[in-house]
Amino acid sequence: MNLLNKFKDPKLCLNILEQIKSDLQEEFRFMEVCGTHTVAIFQSGIRSLLPEKIIHLSGPGCPVCVTHDREIAAYLALSEKNLVIATFGDLIKVPGPGGKNLKMAQAEGAIINIVYSAFDALQMAMENPDRKVVFLGVGFETTAPTVAAVIKMAKEQEVRNFFVLTMHKLVPPALKALAADKEIRVDGLLLPGHVSTIIGLEPYKFLAEEYNMPSVIGGFEPLDILQSILIMIRQKNESRAVVVNNYKRVVSDQGNTRAMEVMHDVFEVSDALWRGLGTIPDSGLVLRKEYSDFDASLVFDQELPEVEEVVGCKCGEVLKGLISPDNCPLFDTRCTPAKPVGPCMVSTEGSCAAYHKYRL
Ligand code: SF4
Repeated sequence: MNLLNKFKDPKLCLNILEQIKSDLQEEFRFMEVCGTHTVAIFQSGIRSLLPEKIIHLSGPGCPVCVTHDREIAAYLALSEKNLVIATFGDLIKVPGPGGKNLKMAQAEGAIINIVYSAFDALQMAMENPDRKVVFLGVGFETTAPTVAAVIKMAKEQEVRNFFVLTMHKLVPPALKALAADKEIRVDGLLLPGHVSTIIGLEPYKFLAEEYNMPSVIGGFEPLDILQSILIMIRQKNESRAVVVNNYKRVVSDQGNTRAMEVMHDVFEVSDALWRGLGTIPDSGLVLRKEYSDFDASLVFDQELPEVEEVVGCKCGEVLKGLISPDNCPLFDTRCTPAKPVGPCMVSTEGSCAAYHKYRL
């Protein structure tokens, strides 16, 4: 058996599951921050095997889901400015104000191309020097360093027709906002494996020190997830809170310092608007002055338009773990992956889409 298969081994998983059952003394509400965890928990069947006393909440860890209506409105407005828009695929289906999305804008004549990376967008710009290409930069610390590296490359190669509309967001400030919100009751956090690969352990320490919140960086295999849950239960039982790296085969405690360096070379920290969570201080990234020639918001004078909220969508409450997706009155009625009303039903890692696909 190779190493990765061991993390799926049914015998080992059942063993941890038994320990969870025997150690569990009261009801706990655990939030998995990352959309990949939400899907992994469903796919592996863990959700149906865990005792009912463990309540699972999905958090704000899907970048498309936390994109605000005003940000979608900005994308739509940019698409009307005779630019080439380069974007990740999920984003084109997210409905903005009035239900319009980038796919509809494309049908009306806007030039919108799906890319797999910011580098693809840069290449598109280099191959089409007579067109202005704008890459829609969404994502957390996992994505932002790669976008930063591409912007650096564009500067070095003096590419004048490549721009980025940056809506990147940082995970720890959002977790701070959640932990400080008295309305939200969370007993422990399963921290995102991918983001942690970049930022390491240190940025989460406030969760234990200031909020007494057991928090575990976990991998995505069944054994990773079950072990992480057991660690949180044991910390709760012992009334202590520590941030634990339970994904050491991938995440080093100090993170990827080179990636962080590149990210901070190009971007500086700013406040950011999150769907459901509002404006969170120091939770976003904007381009530094030295890179302002690449900043689509400045070059094309594109601010975030004021918009009316999408009526009926409860994504904000889902992202804060206040309700589960099937408590939204539109779930699987007016809102389905084929015709999503909110972004949580669009992304494959969105909680609503995961509930739609895997719910028992
Ligand atoms: S089911 Fe649809 S409308 Fe309801 S919260 Fe999820 S995405 Fe929004």
